[in-house]
Amino acid sequence: MKHIYDMVIIGGGPGGYTAALYAARAGLDVIVLEKLSAGGQMALTSQIDNYPGFEDGIDGFTLGEKMQASAERFGAKTEIAEVLSVDFSSSPKVIEASEGTFYGHTVIYATGANPRTLGVPKEKELVGRGVNYCAACDGMFYKEKTVVVVGGGNTAAADAMQLSRICEKVIIVHRRDSLRATKIYHEPLMKAENIEFRWNSTVSELISDGKLTGVKIKDVATGEESLIDCDGIFISVGRKPATELVKGQLELDASGYVIADESTKTNIPGVFAIGDVRTKKLRQIVTAVADGAMAAHEAEEYLAEIK
Ligand SMILES: Cc1cc2nc3c(=O)[nH]c(=O)nc-3n(C[C@H](O)[C@H](O)[C@H](O)COP(=O)(O)OP(=O)(O)OC[C@H]3O[C@@H](n4cnc5c(N)ncnc54)[C@H](O)[C@@H]3O)c2cc1C
Repeated sequence: MKHIYDMVIIGGGPGGYTAALYAARAGLDVIVLEKLSAGGQMALTSQIDNYPGFEDGIDGFTLGEKMQASAERFGAKTEIAEVLSVDFSSSPKVIEASEGTFYGHTVIYATGANPRTLGVPKEKELVGRGVNYCAACDGMFYKEKTVVVVGGGNTAAADAMQLSRICEKVIIVHRRDSLRATKIYHEPLMKAENIEFRWNSTVSELISDGKLTGVKIKDVATGEESLIDCDGIFISVGRKPATELVKGQLELDASGYVIADESTKTNIPGVFAIGDVRTKKLRQIVTAVADGAMAAHEAEEYLAEIK
């Protein structure tokens, strides 16, 4: 006999576990399918200072475990399993995972969006020790210091503006000779006294003595290398939403995010997209958890209609 859950949540980050908490407290039969461990991207950071309620901050791994425990306290289940394919056209919806097949009257899609990396040596090992992907998250750690921002799009421009208000100096390294960011950013960036540009350049090496002390950049035309001494690097070259699984089923925008507004409803009734994977302006823990609560509420209403 197949077990049909009220709600199957794909992804055990802050969005997924908040949906699980709200759904379990509302008496729904809910399971979270997570391929790695609770916490999602949060688990990659050792200090979170902008999630309210922790006056000394908290490390992301512990916060992830706490979110999982909060949901499981009310009966939510977790299965460590990678979802391999989904079929949202059937009723109930079918989720094929590494640990078997799961069925849900509703599905919460919460797989996140990972920052794109540069792919230079030592990048991974220096995350949290000078290598960063989110100015809103980690900018404050570089108060009155020198940082490099890599990228030339809107994210890099917004990150550079934000960092210029915190740091002593911000150096934008961009592989082209002008910004791709919308015009609105150009003037403030050019006018800011503590922002410098290194055009036509890519990062070729991260210099460290346990933590980052500088970056080597390479001129794309001449191949000439030069060294920038800095305390941190913000890699702002975009994000990759984890939407391979739902291509052709859920409507995606041009960048690959699931199209859903604050209701978290997708084009398929009973399927909700939450957190970093959906179209939104600010991708943070607080916005992911807000989505999780909203999705559980919307799912409850949907279930009341179909059951
Ligand atoms: C280094 C770093 C530092 C950060 N610092 C902060 C900070 O200080 N403050 C802040 O507010 N935000 C911070 N963020 C951003 C924040 O972590 C994200 O906005 C938030 O985690 C998004 O939550 P989410 O639930 O949408 O997705 P995620 O946290 O990305 O979780 C998605 C989960 O889905 C799982 N998954 C994906 N595909 C599958 C599959 N096929 N099968 C099963 N499971 C799957 C993943 O393993 C992951 O656990 C940081 C991000 C990074 C990378």
